[in-house]
Amino acid sequence: MSASPVCPGTGVRLVPRTYKVRPVTDADREQYARFERSATERGDADEAEYYRSVIPKWETEVGQEREALVCAVCGRTSLSPTRAGTARRHQRWDSETPSWDRVYELRKEINALNEELDRVLVQLDAQSEA
Ligand SMILES: [Zn+2]
Repeated sequence: MSASPVCPGTGVRLVPRTYKVRPVTDADREQYARFERSATERGDADEAEYYRSVIPKWETEVGQEREALVCAVCGRTSLSPTRAGTARRHQRWDSETPSWDRVYELRKEINALNEELDRVLVQLDAQSEA
């Protein structure tokens, strides 16, 4: 049984993050060659053609900056957001190596959200007194 915990970012709004397109690895080449073979075996020429085009295209994009919506907690990519823009239930992704930059970034986000929380609470207070 999988012991991977559900990410605490589940239900939290996804955040945009910029990243650099990483270089293609041998494992990537093997994976797409496998996809292409199985599409060919299924007789799906269009799909095989698509898989054949992925690696050459990817190689021209290495190092380019992209923006993606990621889980605010674990940084997981390729989560399709809910209608409210929040992350669906997913297991946490521990690909991120710990760094001080990440600590400062989290601190900044938490402080900003704390200020927002205080502001909303003050507004609610004012409302209930009115
Ligand atoms: Zn997550």
